[in-house]
Amino acid sequence: MTLNNNIINLLKQKSGLLFDKAGDFELLSSSVFSETGRTIGVTTLKRLFNYINDDRKASDYTLNTIALYLGYGDWEQLVHSININSAWGYDDEGTIYIQSLEAGTRLEVSYLNRKVLFVVTKRNGENVLKVVSAENSSLMIGDECDIYKISKGSFLEARHVYRGESIGNYKTRGEVSSINLHQIENANSQLYNDKLHVFGAIIGDIIGSRWEFDSTNDYDFEWLSNENGFTDDTICTIAVADALLKRRDFGVSIHDWCNRYPNPMGGYGGRFAQWVHSNNPQPYNSYGNGAAMRVSPVAHWYKNLDEVLESAAATARPSHNHAEGIKGAQTIALATFRALQLNRQQPKSAPQHIKEILAECVEFSGYDINIKETAVMNRFDETCQGTVPVALWVIGNSNSFEDAIRRAICLGADADTLGAIVGSIAEAIWGIPDNIKKTILRFIPDEMKQVIIQFYEQVDKE
Ligand SMILES: [Mg+2]
Repeated sequence: MTLNNNIINLLKQKSGLLFDKAGDFELLSSSVFSETGRTIGVTTLKRLFNYINDDRKASDYTLNTIALYLGYGDWEQLVHSININSAWGYDDEGTIYIQSLEAGTRLEVSYLNRKVLFVVTKRNGENVLKVVSAENSSLMIGDECDIYKISKGSFLEARHVYRGESIGNYKTRGEVSSINLHQIENANSQLYNDKLHVFGAIIGDIIGSRWEFDSTNDYDFEWLSNENGFTDDTICTIAVADALLKRRDFGVSIHDWCNRYPNPMGGYGGRFAQWVHSNNPQPYNSYGNGAAMRVSPVAHWYKNLDEVLESAAATARPSHNHAEGIKGAQTIALATFRALQLNRQQPKSAPQHIKEILAECVEFSGYDINIKETAVMNRFDETCQGTVPVALWVIGNSNSFEDAIRRAICLGADADTLGAIVGSIAEAIWGIPDNIKKTILRFIPDEMKQVIIQFYEQVDKE
């Protein structure tokens, strides 16, 4: 039996644990003991969290202990006071609990002659259903409905409906006749057919986003959660790819895309934010690492090194026109281009190839990439000259795409941007496993996915 999500959330809040790894259940077990003087076994806890599958029902002793731990007199009092229909999750057929769905999941619900298509999105950290389309319904596109569950044969009820500034509620007058669930991955694999592509820079950015202002030194950090999102590094990489596709000026494209997303997770850096919000953006002699995180598409696009380097400089110049900014962009483009080239000749780069690529980058840039970990660990450096050598050093110590991203992020530095830069080169060296690409898709807006699809279509063709 699996506990209801609300109770699981209370346990997460109380313990501060995420229960994404087995060790957390041991920690919970000892936390319960120190708080209540009562014991719940680790296996029992795993069962209650659905970490292991088992249909046995928990004993009253166990349930009362959970209640005591959460500050209630007993189990009955807990269940009563948090106002849930069942203390158990996921066992009534035909019922969908909205909090159990992944963001991006689509749900088509029919009742009477109405049909509403919802997508699961986040509001204040909780899942809500946002209306994508509505036939014959008083719900409007964009409404966000706070719905606890939807059951076939029951009325659909939204505790709150958020429409712009106003809040209302909603209850259907007829029973739900059908519920169609489209898991996001199905929708996306349809979109991508069998060719699944995502920029390594975007993956590094999204994986690192959660740790930009809450850094981690744990190599085994949680890969993805609902706290991840895309940041400026993704937006700018898309802007560069889109400029190449549309033969558009890089500066115009970057400015345009950043203004489509004026408040991304993590925001824009101070001077760059001014550049984004200016009506007449001018280069400001920046040597920030923003020049290096957005450059990778040019390495995929051009077939000879001179064009790659020239175009890399052109992506930097509209804002990052300091010599260090331009050099940083060019060096990352060079590493990415060489790795792609070597992979075309001999798939899967050998360690020797990686050494050669890094040596060429050092010769080109003059960077010192013999770096001591202690010198860069937990140092937030936003400059090109402080970030690009670190990225090259991380690549030299890694042996797969995921390994490289993990090493970059657990340095506790500028996690998302370092992740994006390392991800750019790592993609070219090792390729990206399909499961990593699939699980990242739900974080990328559709209009960006369209750019990615068209970009790689074009690159693959040539
Ligand atoms: Mg960022």
